[in-house]
Amino acid sequence: MPETLIPVDLTIAPADQPVPLHNRWHPEIPPVVSVRPGAVFRVECLDWTGGQIGNNDSANDVRDVDLLQVHYLSGPIRVEGAEPGDLLVVDILDIGPLPGAQWGFNGIFARENGGGFLTDYFPEARKAIFEFEGIYARSRHLPGVRFAGIPHPGLIGTAPSQQLLDRWNRRERELIARDPERVPPLALPPDPASALLGQVKGAAFDRIAREAARTVPGRENGGNCDIKNLSRGSRIYLPVFVPGANLSLGDLHFSQGDGEITFCGAIEMAGFVDLHVDVIKGGMNKYPNANPIFEPGPVEPRYTRYLVFEGISVTENDQQTYLDAHVAYRRACLNAIDYLQQFGYTAEQAYMILGTAPVEGRISGIVDIPNAVCTLYVPMEIFEFDIRPSADGPRVEDRGQLAATT
Ligand code: ZN
Repeated sequence: MPETLIPVDLTIAPADQPVPLHNRWHPEIPPVVSVRPGAVFRVECLDWTGGQIGNNDSANDVRDVDLLQVHYLSGPIRVEGAEPGDLLVVDILDIGPLPGAQWGFNGIFARENGGGFLTDYFPEARKAIFEFEGIYARSRHLPGVRFAGIPHPGLIGTAPSQQLLDRWNRRERELIARDPERVPPLALPPDPASALLGQVKGAAFDRIAREAARTVPGRENGGNCDIKNLSRGSRIYLPVFVPGANLSLGDLHFSQGDGEITFCGAIEMAGFVDLHVDVIKGGMNKYPNANPIFEPGPVEPRYTRYLVFEGISVTENDQQTYLDAHVAYRRACLNAIDYLQQFGYTAEQAYMILGTAPVEGRISGIVDIPNAVCTLYVPMEIFEFDIRPSADGPRVEDRGQLAATT
């Protein structure tokens, strides 16, 4: 087992961890460990909320979650010799849950506190707890479903330069200004409340907390990319913006459907990641690219039979949009949710299956004016019953329900 450079302790608060964590992006958050190119090491991570969600049957914790705390990240990890303009090569050698914590959660956030892709349809908090049986996940809140996990870090990235951070803050503030009172908000500006900045101390803390970017969206540094296929054996090429690269990661997922549509989002877990790092000198010039480049690994569940749901870029009110893939993906998800309800699932349960199981989302057509076509590939093997249309179906059964608020 590689040396654990960043351990976490699930019994103590995020702010008191043995190696300081952080939950914002800023170039001045100092590295907590330093490694050489070629190093192999283990990093442990809290779940993205820092333990705010419990293994129980109430969604009150999802309703009341403090989203200003997210995401708790392990790092920054300084890579010796990495300089701005290089590419950092990060191999995910292994990843999994922590011993003694073989469970994870998915939540539907309340509209007033986080929301999600389909928050207009699902405005109330709900939760499902998943138990891990080796490579498999099943949930007492989703009977009839069991699938192999495809564990991955939802969030991995390098620290931004001050110049890049300033660009993020400018453009995201411009977006917020279009509709500052919107619920949920259009974007999340820097907010010192609940900011955790690793080893930043003293007078600098307030300034950095006011400038530091929230970790919610993916950006040029990688960050919260939520690519479900970045599992064991994946390689990620991250741009380097500060000396040492300052790599951070967290938001580990046991499994996720494309789009992470419930926002809380995948099967969220605390866990470990074994990493190998290397540096390509001058790589950002040799392979110009505004964002990271990803190379998914060879280890994935082998699901081969899918029922595919289609969505077109026409709104629920039969309003025609022009090639709007966001609308088309929403319609594909809503079609799949309607369909799965015919077997006895609640709409919320179906929403959650799409967010957690290895569901493939695709833009199938983006040129045939005026309709974008998005498709959702639901693996049929994850269900313990046949979900295909048939002459004597669908077989309706009581399939329980998600944890609700009390
Ligand atoms: Zn996540």
